[in-house]
Amino acid sequence: MPDVHALLSASGSHRWLECTPSARLEEGFPSTTSDYAAEGTLAHLLAEATALYWTDQITETEYEERLAEIKKDKWYTEDMLEDCISYAKLILEKWNALKEKCPDAIVMLEAQIKYDAWAPEGFGTADCLILADGFMEVIDFKYGKGKRVDALGNPQMRLYTLGAYNTYGLVYQVEQITMTIFQPRLSGVISSDDITISELLDWGENYVKPRAQLAFEGKGDFCPSSETCKFCKAKQVCRARTNENLKLFDEAPDVLLITPEEAGQLLERAADISAWLADLENLVQSTLLEGTPVTGWKIVEGRSNRKFADPVKVADALKTAGYDEAVIYKPRELITLTQMEKDFGKKNVATLLGELIVKPAGKPTLAPESDKRPEYKPAEQIIAAFDEEA
Ligand code: SF4
Repeated sequence: MPDVHALLSASGSHRWLECTPSARLEEGFPSTTSDYAAEGTLAHLLAEATALYWTDQITETEYEERLAEIKKDKWYTEDMLEDCISYAKLILEKWNALKEKCPDAIVMLEAQIKYDAWAPEGFGTADCLILADGFMEVIDFKYGKGKRVDALGNPQMRLYTLGAYNTYGLVYQVEQITMTIFQPRLSGVISSDDITISELLDWGENYVKPRAQLAFEGKGDFCPSSETCKFCKAKQVCRARTNENLKLFDEAPDVLLITPEEAGQLLERAADISAWLADLENLVQSTLLEGTPVTGWKIVEGRSNRKFADPVKVADALKTAGYDEAVIYKPRELITLTQMEKDFGKKNVATLLGELIVKPAGKPTLAPESDKRPEYKPAEQIIAAFDEEA
């Protein structure tokens, strides 16, 4: 993956399309990196190499050489390789199915895409592009395991698709487009969205183009929300976000008690509050740690627990004093399932222990209506259980 990013990047488009001044505001802040990002970068390198090999675009020797390099990285795991093989298989399946109808169908990996006809200086890298007569599919490999990303209406995917259509659409006379997101660490979630050319071009011309121009010029209205601000580089110090969150405290209720309906509305409107408070805390803490005072705050030593300096010597001392091993050690206990999968590989654990692993029903949890999970309906579930027993 190239290390340069467009001001109007596809991956940040959900932000600058909503909050157009954010793109220029973010320019003043340094890029940060994280362990997740390092792991994701390596997974993409491996996914590319594996897919290149599975689609006969590099030789086995070349693949082995790349794999040997990747395996030296501390983020490499056997599970990562399994996930990348699943990605390569997905591409191969789709490509083979297309080749039956169109022998000239091609697969492009890490394809450089320009969507500057809609967003000034817009470019990016699509993980995979499959082209056949009349058809195009853009596939994105997402290695995160936190949040499910939906392809439906996804602006990142649509920008790649616009750019790819601009370059290859006429050559392949593309009429049908599919956008797919593959998230192997979320139980191999595959999410797809189909879009017509006219819908795509209409979105590009009438939605992206004017907003991208505003974003490029640093103009437009700030649009703070938990989604847009989440990964914004300006989020700790953004005045618009601060003002938006403060609005919640301006409205004094005119009755003594609030209703559950009001509590629901407040929760919805306060979606960004806890993240915002955490960002404020991080800002003040890092400022103090750098040596700059902040009125009303100081850094103190956090709580710490006592611990044995040398567990072996502790055990020896207790045994010498006459204590039995059975009372000084904890009973033996299995390592966790997550740890087992990490140590022995997910596939191996599934093969060996699949039938011995159960997943109890989760505790009822509050979620916004937009959450993808099906609604928990206790009454229906009790009736279903009763029917099963009858
Ligand atoms: S923090 Fe939020 S409101 Fe402020 S610029 Fe970033 S996305 Fe926009």
